[in-house]
Amino acid sequence: MREVIFTDFDGTVSTRDVGYHLFHHFSGGKNDELIPDWKSGRMSSRDCLTREAEMISATSEQLEAYLTQHEIDPTFGSFVQTCRANEVELTILSDGLDFYIEKLLAAQGLGELPWKANHAIINGDKMTIEFPYDNGPCRRCGNCKAQRIRDFRQEITGEAKVIFIGDGYSDACATEEADIIFAKKDLEQFCQKNNIDYIGFKDFSDVTRYLKQTTVFKQ
Ligand SMILES: [Mg+2]
Ligand SMILES: [Zn+2]
Repeated sequence: MREVIFTDFDGTVSTRDVGYHLFHHFSGGKNDELIPDWKSGRMSSRDCLTREAEMISATSEQLEAYLTQHEIDPTFGSFVQTCRANEVELTILSDGLDFYIEKLLAAQGLGELPWKANHAIINGDKMTIEFPYDNGPCRRCGNCKAQRIRDFRQEITGEAKVIFIGDGYSDACATEEADIIFAKKDLEQFCQKNNIDYIGFKDFSDVTRYLKQTTVFKQ
């Protein structure tokens, strides 16, 4: 059976949640007033991101300069290599924003990795967000990871074993569709609360080690 890996970006591939910290930085902490409603599900990701974008003024130069404070998990590069060596497809699914994913991956020479995220339009010092992906029945996400996995299963012929890696509430929907779940932080708590089987991890070296003990990574 074909095996594929989908991973979250913020706080999973990147060591910190870039989207949250970016809005926190440029709104002077104002975005924190939205987070409890978002975490409880009272506010959708689309509404939350739209309002966060309205709270900030930052030019693309300022945004780019800010991004230099953020980094990718140092073990992610070798994870990508191991996926390639084993011909296992790896795709980033993010409910964050395209411009910083693109920048941070490119800075590590990982610019060719496929990703699907929400779209930020930066015009002067104003940002607006577009949501290019269909969410199916989900009313919670900006870019629903469960829907992305369902789309993937429909597009391929035959079956696939889907491995998902994540750390937060925006990964919750993906647990409905993935076959193997790696979880940390808020996603780990979500899995525990909802009796969802998961494998705990700290960084991508743990994921690599685990998958080498299975048939997913043969080398
Ligand atoms: Mg995350
Ligand atoms: Zn969703």
